[in-house]
Amino acid sequence: MNRNYADPKLIVVAQDLAQHMEAQFPGTVTLTLDGSFPLFDGVPLLPHLSHDDGEKLDLAYYYEGAEGYVPGRTRSPLGYFAFEQGPTDCPPRRLTLRWDLDWLQGLFPDLALDRTRTAEALRVLGQDPRLGRIFVEPHLRESLSVGGARFGFQGCRAARHDDHIHIQL
Ligand SMILES: [Zn+2]
Repeated sequence: MNRNYADPKLIVVAQDLAQHMEAQFPGTVTLTLDGSFPLFDGVPLLPHLSHDDGEKLDLAYYYEGAEGYVPGRTRSPLGYFAFEQGPTDCPPRRLTLRWDLDWLQGLFPDLALDRTRTAEALRVLGQDPRLGRIFVEPHLRESLSVGGARFGFQGCRAARHDDHIHIQL
């Protein structure tokens, strides 16, 4: 649906990350999710309201099954909405883009977050001077022990970020 437009500068960041991950853990596949629509600036991509200018891109987490890392797979078919549950300060609300989709959670295949790969990707992204902001849910940042000035919280009214990583220039 043409949701994968991204600024060439951001594409290079994603390619560099994919190469780093492959070098560090051979066989690792890095997946991108939504970018922006290839339209004039200001057309947002629901529920990712900030994805309106090609300067934002979402990356999938890395997952493992019973036999270990599973290349190129995500827990949910779209790559979104399979949440790594954890504590949050956000109150439950009806009219918000923070979709919890509790009814969906039991339907996803039994994959677990590959904590080693996901933490390594976050560490590398956190040190990339080409990036402005990175969004990951605070509880994951904490449990994966990654942090830094580029990491932020998107706020309670925006999409959750414990199912994917959001990067922007
Ligand atoms: Zn995003």
